[in-house]
Amino acid sequence: MVDAIVLGDSWSWPAAMSIDLVEIRSRMPSYNPNSNIEDSIQWLPSFNGNYSASSALASLRAHHPLVPWFKLVWFPQYIPRMSFIVWMAVRGRLSTLDRIHKYDPRAVTTCVLCNSHLESHAHLFFECLCSRASWTQLLNYCGSPWNGLCWNDFIIWASTHWRGNTPIIVAMKLCLGVAVYRIWKERNCCIFEGTKRTSLVVALSIIDTIRCRLSSINLKGHPPIALNWNVNAN
Ligand SMILES: [Zn+2]
Repeated sequence: MVDAIVLGDSWSWPAAMSIDLVEIRSRMPSYNPNSNIEDSIQWLPSFNGNYSASSALASLRAHHPLVPWFKLVWFPQYIPRMSFIVWMAVRGRLSTLDRIHKYDPRAVTTCVLCNSHLESHAHLFFECLCSRASWTQLLNYCGSPWNGLCWNDFIIWASTHWRGNTPIIVAMKLCLGVAVYRIWKERNCCIFEGTKRTSLVVALSIIDTIRCRLSSINLKGHPPIALNWNVNAN
């Protein structure tokens, strides 16, 4: 109890100090107790002394500078489950076959979508013929033709050029999120369920998701986005 270490207007620490008491004493403020003022409890991590879950979380987690691709992944209209996969992909943390092979040398590493290349983040999301076909159609819609960049360079390029909250920027960010999510899901279905669809069907699925999302969001100061998808199904 606190009163066990207070004597009048000074601290009175017991002679036998436990590890916990030594820790508490090292964190004590430099001033002495004041018997003329009523005791109050204050939560030091918050500005006003009141406890809140957000201030507790902020005091516990490590703080790092924002990464340049932050707003590419997290923006007001983002789709949580899809942005989570993009976040994992940008950080290279999805369990692609090249990563699995590092701890399981028996694991097959050939991309299941094209059956011809090592499956890595760069290959799966940008270099694979299946995903490239989807990207070509999506980027054409966005008026941003295929620029030939690799996955890592594309993320840097998009972080620089896709700024703001205009309808077309939002549409492109959603394209990124939906495309990455759908390609990852397509790859998982292929591995775990044995199903495989053509790149055009995948692209149509991606476009349909984006169409639904764009029609349901409200962009401040902009009229609803008029969609004119023109994907050749032949
Ligand atoms: Zn492939």
